[in-house]
Amino acid sequence: MGEFDLIARYFTRPVHRAALGVGDDCALLTPAPGMQLAISSDMLVEGRHFFADVDPGRLGHKALAVNLSDLAACGARPLAFTLALALPRVDEAWLEAFSRGLLALADAHGCELVGGDTTQGPLNICITVFGEVPAGQALLRSGAQPGDDIYVSGTLGDARLALEALLGHIALPPEALTTARLRLEQPSPRVTLGQALRGIASSALDVSDGLLGDLGHILRASGAGACIDTSITMNLIATSAYSISARDQIDTEMLHQCTLAGGDDYELAFTAPVARRAAVAAAAQASGTPVTRIGRVEAEPGLRLVDAQGRPVANRYASFDHFGPTHSG
Ligand code: ADP
Ligand code: MG
Repeated sequence: MGEFDLIARYFTRPVHRAALGVGDDCALLTPAPGMQLAISSDMLVEGRHFFADVDPGRLGHKALAVNLSDLAACGARPLAFTLALALPRVDEAWLEAFSRGLLALADAHGCELVGGDTTQGPLNICITVFGEVPAGQALLRSGAQPGDDIYVSGTLGDARLALEALLGHIALPPEALTTARLRLEQPSPRVTLGQALRGIASSALDVSDGLLGDLGHILRASGAGACIDTSITMNLIATSAYSISARDQIDTEMLHQCTLAGGDDYELAFTAPVARRAAVAAAAQASGTPVTRIGRVEAEPGLRLVDAQGRPVANRYASFDHFGPTHSG
């Protein structure tokens, strides 16, 4: 099978929202009047972002999910995406499963595959996603104000827990590993919640490298600091709730590490004025996505951690940085 047969077979579909899809030199999108395009790219590299033997359907899902998560963080509605793919060889079973996982998530979000590039090389997947947001209404990292509440959606730390188990660093009972692994390999981008938070959240981003590190981006962009209650965040891990036996095997330190600095969560972290608590609750309800208040923005720069009694907790939880000193591969 040649390059063009491969594109035609697995990655060419009719488009409805885009003006022109796969097959010409450019795809064409027609933004609706008054809307801005929100654009983001994310690359997944074998051995760095995923194991070589990962289920290809889940990999297709995740490649798009991490991009949709960026649109969610900006409060944008997905429109279209492009797929740049380097493949070591043409493996039809792999391509079939990969494209099925990818396009199922795309269909679920009305996000159309409109173009890309295909080349031979080490497995590498780069997606660029296009969304739309009413002009001036995108949620940004800047905008958090002292006194604002800090929230996070869904659950934290399960993806990291799965990674630790897959690397053999910890032992998880089989059903706990299954739950955690789904969070690692098939995250749900919080697209509906992101849109529901427009006009309510004062700042937002998606948690991809670990809660504390990513919150740091909001705080720096907003020129503020924060206090986070670790007795709340440590309970946001879902795996332990599913399995008491799993919890017994994971010590508190590991729970903090996974929830505060786990990475691969793809939840939204956001801030909102105290006066908007009811509006945040309504947005969470309307989007079917639980949100939890985990702390407060403060004027004093820096990130402070406290326990349930308000006593300081040492912050030794580094987030993932591809080129940073704590990089572990
Ligand atoms: P060009 O030579 O103009 O870059 P290509 O020959 O690489 O175009 O691709 C032909 C068409 O197929 C283009 O419309 C391109 O966007 C699309 N395409 C290539 N690879 C992919 C892919 N992996 N997924 C979706 N569309 C693709
Ligand atoms: Mg090309």
